[in-house]
Amino acid sequence: MPNDEKIQTIVEVSSNTYGGCKMCTFAAPHLGDVPLMVNHYLQVHGFELLHVGQQTERGGDDGSPFHTTVAVLGTTQVIKERAPGRLSLPEKEREDA
Ligand SMILES: [Zn+2]
Repeated sequence: MPNDEKIQTIVEVSSNTYGGCKMCTFAAPHLGDVPLMVNHYLQVHGFELLHVGQQTERGGDDGSPFHTTVAVLGTTQVIKERAPGRLSLPEKEREDA
């Protein structure tokens, strides 16, 4: 089975940044819930896990380092950005009485 499909869409999930799903309106209830977001992309949008790693970053004023988890997911699907919400107001009929 040929598996040379190219990844078309890549998303990155980090425990250090808050980000909802880029494909839908789903968002983890807690900041940086990487496993939840990864599972969401895998199960809901059919992404595959490309990379998981840890980064060490320095903290704020106290300078204490902390670890962040970063996951990179990709899909061979070409996914267009979510269309902005369109108002679907019914067209008003002209009353030419
Ligand atoms: Zn989603």
